[in-house]
Amino acid sequence: MKGKRIVIVGSGFGGLAAAALLAHKGHDVTLVEKNELYGGRARVHKDKGFQFDMGPSWYLMPDVFEEFFALFGKTPADFYELQRLDPQYRIFFSHDNIVDVHADFEKNVALFNKLEPNGGEKLREFLDLAKVKYDTAMEGTLYKDYKSVLDLLSWDMLRKGTKLGVFGNLDDLVRKYFSSDEAIKILEYSIGFLGGSPKITPAIYQLMSYVDFSLGVWFPEGGMGRVASSIYELAVENGAHVILGEDVTEIKVKEGRATTVVTENREIDADVVVVNADYPYSELQLIPEEYQTYDKKYWDSRILAPSAFVAFVGIDTTIEKLRHHSLFLDRDWARNFDEIFESDSPAWPKSPSYYVNVPSKTDPGLAPPGGETLFILVPLAPGLEDTPELRERFFNQIMDHLEDTVDMTIRDHIVSKRIFAVNDYANDYHAYKGTALSIVHTLKQTAVWRPAHRSKKVHNLYYTGQYTHPGIGVPMTLIASQIVSDLVEKNEQ
Ligand SMILES: Cc1cc2nc3c(=O)[nH]c(=O)nc-3n(C[C@H](O)[C@H](O)[C@H](O)COP(=O)(O)OP(=O)(O)OC[C@H]3O[C@@H](n4cnc5c(N)ncnc54)[C@H](O)[C@@H]3O)c2cc1C
Repeated sequence: MKGKRIVIVGSGFGGLAAAALLAHKGHDVTLVEKNELYGGRARVHKDKGFQFDMGPSWYLMPDVFEEFFALFGKTPADFYELQRLDPQYRIFFSHDNIVDVHADFEKNVALFNKLEPNGGEKLREFLDLAKVKYDTAMEGTLYKDYKSVLDLLSWDMLRKGTKLGVFGNLDDLVRKYFSSDEAIKILEYSIGFLGGSPKITPAIYQLMSYVDFSLGVWFPEGGMGRVASSIYELAVENGAHVILGEDVTEIKVKEGRATTVVTENREIDADVVVVNADYPYSELQLIPEEYQTYDKKYWDSRILAPSAFVAFVGIDTTIEKLRHHSLFLDRDWARNFDEIFESDSPAWPKSPSYYVNVPSKTDPGLAPPGGETLFILVPLAPGLEDTPELRERFFNQIMDHLEDTVDMTIRDHIVSKRIFAVNDYANDYHAYKGTALSIVHTLKQTAVWRPAHRSKKVHNLYYTGQYTHPGIGVPMTLIASQIVSDLVEKNEQ
């Protein structure tokens, strides 16, 4: 089948990748995005010579990007230069207890030996198992579309699942190996990339430690926005037509088929519709009720991933103690997660862990000379009340701690400042309860239990992006779109 009219709703990594792949296969692709800039959560914010990636800042799993670009006969190097970061990141456990995790594995073995007796050997064993899990996921499960539980619960998977610890949780597993507070945090923090908490995340996600320690943390020159613009270029080069700044308000369905995508300004007829916009909004607001696969009750029963407080701060000085990626984990770790996932009455956290990204340390072009680009991220419970006063108070609370820890006054040096929080996620992306990241990766929200790639009621309606399998994170959304473009090719004769 060639030349189908395919309309894609949303230009996040999922939408851009689907547009590029389907246009490359010879289809007539139109992508519609509500915001003026493409990239979705990975848009770029520029102000007074500072450039900020608004969402992703960790380039992980470089193999997935290579595989994606190879589908077009290209490599990432055709678009951007990659650099492996070293140190990969710095962790502040307290003002004086600071550790760097390095690209050189032996340095990390030495670090773990300092953290606890025999820590280095335990790290090797832990990562050996993490590698087995990563390889198993890459070979068997990540690139697969799950239609029913039978696809997952084959005898082989059950056997492997038990062996791989699919049915236990990550926190229990990490604590079987390690006892020091620091080692446990280093091996659990990466679960934050999936928006989860170690107690509710299946132990299979131990594979994230292999991603972190062995595959490494990379930086694309120009920032993550350059990766989004590369895929945008691929889509356009292959003939996709991109419409920005138009909110899709309806997907018309007739006799079980999506026929037309309606925006504020036009109606676009479609043979196939691929939705990258937030799944709950799209199902509940864009299609008629009788055609919804998942109703409001379903979405309310999901465990949503956190929302976020993000401060984009441009300063006219440099902060020596920070690295490209710095994590502040000196607070009450368990309470942090409980505040996000367990509380019946969520509130702005009192002493949260947080993360500061300073990409200008690696790419000085991202800040004016002598300045630095700071991206400060604090996970929040979704659905929180969000007002200008609450934001400002919280900003000062975080800055008090940050300034104390890095031993300098930062607020006197601010040249550019923008805060992005719960209401912005809801307004800019139609995010359910302002989640920054969709739904978390619990066992019941993984693989076949994530919302489906193909609507169960509208034959030619597909979904891609972080709500669908394999889930949250830029590499995952690229994989989701590979799955979806193959499905479209197979089903839509
Ligand atoms: C603060 C933050 C930090 C992160 N850090 C990392 C990281 O370091 N590394 C990493 O790999 N991942 C990270 N992630 C996760 C990663 O960014 C996301 O998983 C990924 O970008 C999501 O892509 P997506 O295509 O699913 O959705 P989105 O990027 O949300 O794209 C959906 C698009 O649909 C559009 N849309 C919605 N409704 C409509 C409508 N009605 N009509 C038209 N368009 C519509 C939205 O405007 C949006 O552009 C981070 C995310 C956030 C928020």
